[in-house]
Amino acid sequence: MKRQIKKWTLRLTATGLLLAGLLLIIVLNPILTYANKTTYKNYTVFHNKILDPSLLTKLDQATELLKASEFYNPKLRLDICLNDGSKYPTLIRVLRGQAFAWGFYDKVVLQGTANYKVNNVELNGYKWNLTQLLAHEMTHCLQFDKLGFWKSKPIANIPNWKWEGYAEYISRQNADQKDLSKNIERLIVTGKENWEIKFADNSITPREYYDYWTLIQYCMDIKKMTYKQILTDTTSEQIVRQEMMSWFSKQE
Ligand SMILES: [Zn+2]
Repeated sequence: MKRQIKKWTLRLTATGLLLAGLLLIIVLNPILTYANKTTYKNYTVFHNKILDPSLLTKLDQATELLKASEFYNPKLRLDICLNDGSKYPTLIRVLRGQAFAWGFYDKVVLQGTANYKVNNVELNGYKWNLTQLLAHEMTHCLQFDKLGFWKSKPIANIPNWKWEGYAEYISRQNADQKDLSKNIERLIVTGKENWEIKFADNSITPREYYDYWTLIQYCMDIKKMTYKQILTDTTSEQIVRQEMMSWFSKQE
Protein backbone atom coordinates (compact mmCIF):
# COMPACT_ATOMS: atom_id res chain seq x y z
CA MET A 1 0.00 0.00 0.00
CA LYS A 2 2.75 2.41 1.04
CA ARG A 3 4.60 1.57 -2.15
CA GLN A 4 1.49 2.28 -4.24
CA ILE A 5 1.04 5.70 -2.64
CA LYS A 6 4.68 6.50 -3.31
CA LYS A 7 4.30 5.47 -6.96
CA TRP A 8 1.21 7.62 -7.46
CA THR A 9 2.72 10.61 -5.68
CA LEU A 10 5.66 10.34 -8.03
CA ARG A 11 3.39 10.08 -11.10
CA LEU A 12 1.27 13.07 -10.02
CA THR A 13 4.34 15.19 -9.31
CA ALA A 14 5.80 14.30 -12.71
CA THR A 15 2.51 15.20 -14.45
CA GLY A 16 2.29 18.47 -12.51
CA LEU A 17 5.84 19.44 -13.42
CA LEU A 18 5.20 18.57 -17.07
CA LEU A 19 2.05 20.73 -17.17
CA ALA A 20 3.81 23.63 -15.42
CA GLY A 21 6.66 23.32 -17.93
CA LEU A 22 4.24 23.36 -20.88
CA LEU A 23 2.46 26.40 -19.44
CA LEU A 24 5.79 28.19 -19.04
CA ILE A 25 6.72 27.46 -22.67
CA ILE A 26 3.38 28.91 -23.84
CA VAL A 27 3.70 32.01 -21.61
CA LEU A 28 7.26 32.67 -22.79
CA ASN A 29 6.43 32.14 -26.47
CA PRO A 30 3.31 34.15 -27.41
CA ILE A 31 3.78 33.19 -31.08
CA LEU A 32 2.36 29.75 -30.20
CA THR A 33 -1.04 31.33 -29.48
CA TYR A 34 -1.10 34.25 -31.98
CA ALA A 35 -1.73 34.25 -35.74
CA ASN A 36 0.58 37.21 -36.51
CA LYS A 37 3.55 39.15 -35.29
CA THR A 38 4.78 42.55 -36.42
CA THR A 39 8.19 43.90 -35.49
CA TYR A 40 8.44 47.64 -34.90
CA LYS A 41 11.66 49.18 -33.55
CA ASN A 42 12.34 47.39 -30.21
CA TYR A 43 8.84 45.92 -30.08
CA THR A 44 7.36 42.69 -31.35
CA VAL A 45 3.59 43.05 -31.47
CA PHE A 46 1.61 39.81 -31.34
CA HIS A 47 -1.87 40.06 -32.83
CA ASN A 48 -4.63 38.00 -34.42
CA LYS A 49 -6.39 40.70 -36.44
CA ILE A 50 -4.90 43.26 -38.84
CA LEU A 51 -2.74 45.63 -36.82
CA ASP A 52 -4.10 49.16 -36.39
CA PRO A 53 -1.07 51.31 -37.33
CA SER A 54 -2.01 53.95 -34.73
CA LEU A 55 -0.84 51.48 -32.06
CA LEU A 56 2.72 52.06 -33.31
CA THR A 57 2.36 55.80 -32.58
CA LYS A 58 1.23 54.88 -29.05
CA LEU A 59 4.32 52.68 -28.65
CA ASP A 60 6.49 55.64 -29.66
CA GLN A 61 4.70 57.89 -27.15
CA ALA A 62 5.08 55.31 -24.38
CA THR A 63 8.80 54.97 -25.21
CA GLU A 64 9.22 58.75 -24.80
CA LEU A 65 7.65 58.51 -21.31
CA LEU A 66 10.02 55.68 -20.34
CA LYS A 67 13.03 57.90 -20.99
CA ALA A 68 12.24 59.69 -17.70
CA SER A 69 13.20 56.50 -15.84
CA GLU A 70 16.72 55.91 -14.53
CA PHE A 71 16.08 52.27 -15.50
CA TYR A 72 15.47 53.14 -19.15
CA ASN A 73 17.35 50.80 -21.47
CA PRO A 74 17.25 51.75 -25.17
CA LYS A 75 18.34 48.21 -26.10
CA LEU A 76 15.53 46.45 -24.26
CA ARG A 77 13.28 44.48 -26.62
CA LEU A 78 9.71 43.89 -25.52
CA ASP A 79 6.80 41.73 -26.64
CA ILE A 80 3.44 43.50 -26.88
CA CYS A 81 0.56 41.01 -26.75
CA LEU A 82 -2.78 42.35 -27.95
CA ASN A 83 -6.19 41.21 -26.75
CA ASP A 84 -7.75 40.66 -30.19
CA GLY A 85 -8.81 37.04 -30.29
CA SER A 86 -5.82 35.03 -29.06
CA LYS A 87 -6.19 32.79 -26.00
CA TYR A 88 -2.97 34.28 -24.59
CA PRO A 89 -4.53 37.22 -22.65
CA THR A 90 -7.09 34.81 -21.17
CA LEU A 91 -4.31 32.48 -20.04
CA ILE A 92 -2.49 35.37 -18.35
CA ARG A 93 -5.76 36.47 -16.71
CA VAL A 94 -6.26 32.96 -15.30
CA LEU A 95 -2.70 32.91 -13.98
CA ARG A 96 -2.50 36.46 -12.62
CA GLY A 97 -6.04 37.82 -12.30
CA GLN A 98 -8.19 40.44 -14.00
CA ALA A 99 -6.51 43.72 -14.95
CA PHE A 100 -6.39 46.35 -17.71
CA ALA A 101 -3.02 44.86 -18.68
CA TRP A 102 -0.04 42.99 -17.24
CA GLY A 103 3.63 43.78 -17.53
CA PHE A 104 6.18 41.14 -16.54
CA TYR A 105 9.63 40.02 -17.67
CA ASP A 106 9.81 41.29 -21.29
CA LYS A 107 6.08 41.20 -21.98
CA VAL A 108 3.18 43.62 -21.97
CA VAL A 109 -0.18 41.87 -22.24
CA LEU A 110 -3.29 43.95 -22.88
CA GLN A 111 -6.44 42.58 -21.24
CA GLY A 112 -9.23 45.10 -21.72
CA THR A 113 -10.79 46.26 -25.01
CA ALA A 114 -8.44 48.66 -26.80
CA ASN A 115 -9.81 51.63 -28.72
CA TYR A 116 -6.86 53.04 -30.66
CA LYS A 117 -8.75 56.04 -32.09
CA VAL A 118 -9.57 57.54 -28.68
CA ASN A 119 -6.42 56.06 -27.09
CA ASN A 120 -7.87 54.01 -24.27
CA VAL A 121 -8.43 50.48 -22.98
CA GLU A 122 -11.81 49.72 -21.48
CA LEU A 123 -12.50 47.23 -18.70
CA ASN A 124 -15.79 46.91 -16.81
CA GLY A 125 -16.88 50.37 -18.02
CA TYR A 126 -13.67 52.06 -16.85
CA LYS A 127 -11.15 53.50 -19.30
CA TRP A 128 -7.37 53.67 -18.93
CA ASN A 129 -5.33 55.93 -21.22
CA LEU A 130 -3.67 53.48 -23.65
CA THR A 131 -0.34 55.33 -24.01
CA GLN A 132 -0.05 55.61 -20.24
CA LEU A 133 -1.11 52.00 -19.74
CA LEU A 134 1.60 50.81 -22.14
CA ALA A 135 4.16 53.00 -20.35
CA HIS A 136 2.98 51.70 -16.94
CA GLU A 137 3.44 48.04 -17.96
CA MET A 138 6.71 48.76 -19.79
CA THR A 139 8.01 50.36 -16.57
CA HIS A 140 7.44 46.99 -14.86
CA CYS A 141 9.54 45.44 -17.64
CA LEU A 142 12.28 48.03 -16.91
CA GLN A 143 12.12 47.05 -13.23
CA PHE A 144 12.55 43.37 -14.21
CA ASP A 145 15.37 44.26 -16.59
CA LYS A 146 17.31 46.26 -14.00
CA LEU A 147 16.56 44.35 -10.78
CA GLY A 148 16.40 40.84 -12.21
CA PHE A 149 13.77 38.13 -11.74
CA TRP A 150 14.60 37.32 -8.09
CA LYS A 151 14.65 40.96 -6.97
CA SER A 152 11.41 41.89 -8.75
CA LYS A 153 7.81 41.46 -7.69
CA PRO A 154 6.15 39.05 -7.06
CA ILE A 155 9.26 37.05 -6.00
CA ALA A 156 10.88 39.90 -4.05
CA ASN A 157 8.97 41.46 -1.20
CA ILE A 158 8.84 45.03 -2.55
CA PRO A 159 6.01 47.13 -1.09
CA ASN A 160 3.24 47.79 -3.62
CA TRP A 161 3.53 51.55 -3.30
CA LYS A 162 7.13 51.35 -4.53
CA TRP A 163 6.39 48.93 -7.36
CA GLU A 164 3.11 50.34 -8.70
CA GLY A 165 3.71 53.94 -7.63
CA TYR A 166 6.83 54.09 -9.78
CA ALA A 167 5.04 52.68 -12.84
CA GLU A 168 2.38 55.38 -12.37
CA TYR A 169 5.00 58.08 -11.81
CA ILE A 170 6.76 57.26 -15.09
CA SER A 171 3.57 56.86 -17.13
CA ARG A 172 1.64 59.91 -15.84
CA GLN A 173 3.43 62.85 -17.38
CA ASN A 174 0.59 64.90 -18.89
CA ALA A 175 0.63 68.62 -18.12
CA ASP A 176 -2.21 68.19 -15.58
CA GLN A 177 -0.37 65.32 -13.83
CA LYS A 178 3.06 66.83 -13.15
CA ASP A 179 2.27 69.03 -10.13
CA LEU A 180 2.29 67.10 -6.84
CA SER A 181 0.22 69.67 -4.91
CA LYS A 182 -2.50 69.56 -7.57
CA ASN A 183 -2.33 65.76 -7.58
CA ILE A 184 -2.84 65.60 -3.80
CA GLU A 185 -5.67 68.10 -4.11
CA ARG A 186 -7.34 65.90 -6.72
CA LEU A 187 -7.01 62.94 -4.36
CA ILE A 188 -8.66 64.86 -1.50
CA VAL A 189 -11.45 66.34 -3.66
CA THR A 190 -12.38 62.94 -5.15
CA GLY A 191 -13.39 61.48 -1.80
CA LYS A 192 -12.67 58.07 -0.30
CA GLU A 193 -15.95 56.50 -1.50
CA ASN A 194 -14.62 56.46 -5.09
CA TRP A 195 -12.61 53.46 -6.29
CA GLU A 196 -11.11 55.50 -9.13
CA ILE A 197 -9.60 58.93 -9.81
CA LYS A 198 -10.59 60.57 -13.10
CA PHE A 199 -8.32 62.58 -15.42
CA ALA A 200 -9.14 65.33 -17.94
CA ASP A 201 -9.45 62.79 -20.81
CA ASN A 202 -12.08 60.79 -18.84
CA SER A 203 -9.63 57.95 -18.24
CA ILE A 204 -9.03 56.70 -14.70
CA THR A 205 -6.54 55.16 -12.37
CA PRO A 206 -7.46 53.13 -9.26
CA ARG A 207 -7.39 55.36 -6.17
CA GLU A 208 -4.87 53.00 -4.54
CA TYR A 209 -2.38 53.41 -7.41
CA TYR A 210 -2.94 57.15 -7.48
CA ASP A 211 -2.09 57.31 -3.78
CA TYR A 212 1.09 55.24 -4.36
CA TRP A 213 2.04 57.53 -7.25
CA THR A 214 1.85 60.68 -5.06
CA LEU A 215 4.19 59.01 -2.52
CA ILE A 216 6.75 58.21 -5.23
CA GLN A 217 6.34 61.69 -6.73
CA TYR A 218 6.99 63.18 -3.28
CA CYS A 219 10.16 61.09 -2.81
CA MET A 220 11.48 61.83 -6.30
CA ASP A 221 10.41 65.42 -7.04
CA ILE A 222 10.51 66.92 -3.54
CA LYS A 223 13.02 64.77 -1.64
CA LYS A 224 15.10 64.30 -4.82
CA MET A 225 15.62 60.60 -4.20
CA THR A 226 16.49 58.21 -7.00
CA TYR A 227 14.28 55.16 -7.50
CA LYS A 228 17.18 52.93 -6.42
CA GLN A 229 17.35 54.93 -3.15
CA ILE A 230 13.60 54.58 -2.65
CA LEU A 231 13.91 50.80 -3.06
CA THR A 232 16.61 50.50 -0.39
CA ASP A 233 15.15 53.14 1.96
CA THR A 234 13.39 51.63 4.98
CA THR A 235 11.00 54.52 5.80
CA SER A 236 7.49 53.06 6.03
CA GLU A 237 4.62 53.97 3.71
CA GLN A 238 2.77 55.62 6.64
CA ILE A 239 5.71 57.83 7.56
CA VAL A 240 6.30 58.89 3.93
CA ARG A 241 2.59 59.78 3.67
CA GLN A 242 2.74 61.81 6.91
CA GLU A 243 5.83 63.67 5.65
CA MET A 244 4.14 64.31 2.31
CA MET A 245 0.96 65.66 3.90
CA SER A 246 2.92 67.93 6.22
CA TRP A 247 4.81 69.25 3.13
CA PHE A 248 1.44 69.70 1.37
CA SER A 249 -0.04 71.67 4.26
CA LYS A 250 2.80 74.21 3.91
CA GLN A 251 2.06 74.80 0.21
CA GLU A 252 0.00 77.75 -0.99
ZN1 LIG B 1 1.32 47.79 -12.45
